[in-house]
Amino acid sequence: MTDPDVLIAGETLVDLFPTTTGPLANAETFDRRAGGAPANLAVAMTRLGTAPYLWTRLGADPFGEHLADVLETQGVSDRFVEVDADRKTAHTLVGDDPAADQSFVFYKEGTATMAMEPGTVPDETLANLEWVHFGGVMLCEAPVRTAMLDLAERAQAQACTVSFDPNTREDLWADPADLEPTMRRALELADVVKTDREDLSVLLETIDQEIASVAEELLAYGPHTVFLTRGAEGTYGMATADAPWGPAETDQPAFDVDAVDTTGAGDAFTAGTITALLAGRSLSDAVTFGNAVGALTTTETGAMEPLPDREAVERLIAA
Ligand code: ADP
Repeated sequence: MTDPDVLIAGETLVDLFPTTTGPLANAETFDRRAGGAPANLAVAMTRLGTAPYLWTRLGADPFGEHLADVLETQGVSDRFVEVDADRKTAHTLVGDDPAADQSFVFYKEGTATMAMEPGTVPDETLANLEWVHFGGVMLCEAPVRTAMLDLAERAQAQACTVSFDPNTREDLWADPADLEPTMRRALELADVVKTDREDLSVLLETIDQEIASVAEELLAYGPHTVFLTRGAEGTYGMATADAPWGPAETDQPAFDVDAVDTTGAGDAFTAGTITALLAGRSLSDAVTFGNAVGALTTTETGAMEPLPDREAVERLIAA
């Protein structure tokens, strides 16, 4: 097997779903699922035949062992999967919230994720990579954002294409004053940004404007390419002349599938677009490919289980 061209960085965690539905109360037991957007993305790319490195940090506990097993079974390289002997593996309680799709309670204090350190992925590795992706909900925590921004800075210096998915929520930030400068710096370092409506309400003062102006507002921070995913409404993409695949603009509906669970659709979309762009495809083809990967991921429950391989994606596109 050849060495990966891509590195994905961020948290891997266990999502605990109560076996009863409704608010988080009186569950008899919990189902345990591997999660964290960066891990979902790494598994999605592996399934598509573009296996990346995943830089993440697990605790030396049963959750960490479970995640390491899942990643290994899925074929993700363990070269940058660290195990921290002194910390716990990050985990999340997922409940049904009538006001949103799902509610999440994060256990993050004292986790191995919080001990991800700048410099872990050496410059010599970055020099051999084409693409580095960072993001994830844990950017709200100081140690994680320090580690991620350091990685993005060094990846940029090594001429990697840097992509970023904010994947954030305002209420997770211990000090909301950190949010704006972190996002601004991340957008400056990124060449490619994938975002959705939830993020945009955090990133921009108003999203009540035409989608092209939203994209232009994000491009003004520095990226050359933006993808705005809109669930069942599909994806808008825009790239400037600085993009290897630009300048270009595309607005495509979602594939018509029987969606049962949209968890991980955004990560699946990102995996598809990175895979297509690395293969030299156009912005429009990359959005089609990403939309197909995202759509197929919604047809079964879970973020990782339903991830399609390349043949399934090509079949949906050709149908
Ligand atoms: P995120 O999880 O980041 O908010 P979205 O929900 O926008 O991402 O989904 C990402 C992509 O997955 C969409 O742009 C679309 O192509 C596909 N997708 C999501 N939900 C559906 C759906 N219900 N039917 C078909 N495709 C979907």
